[in-house]
Amino acid sequence: MLAKCYLHPREEAAGKCDVCKKPVCRKCAKKTEGKLICRNCQGKKPGSAVDTDELERQERIEKAKEASRRNR
Ligand SMILES: [Zn+2]
Ligand SMILES: [Zn+2]
Repeated sequence: MLAKCYLHPREEAAGKCDVCKKPVCRKCAKKTEGKLICRNCQGKKPGSAVDTDELERQERIEKAKEASRRNR
């Protein structure tokens, strides 16, 4: 029973973020002082979260396209 990264549903989680306790993959998690911190929790500075948001938005658009195709 492996958890998936909450930012990347296709990626297996490498661990849990120590801040939000969500499963995150290696790409999202960074080890900081022995703790895993996910991108969202690291990137509290304005601008640094854009990358993740943009990726997530694109994934949602792709999924929406797929879903609408299947519905027809
Ligand atoms: Zn987090
Ligand atoms: Zn991830």
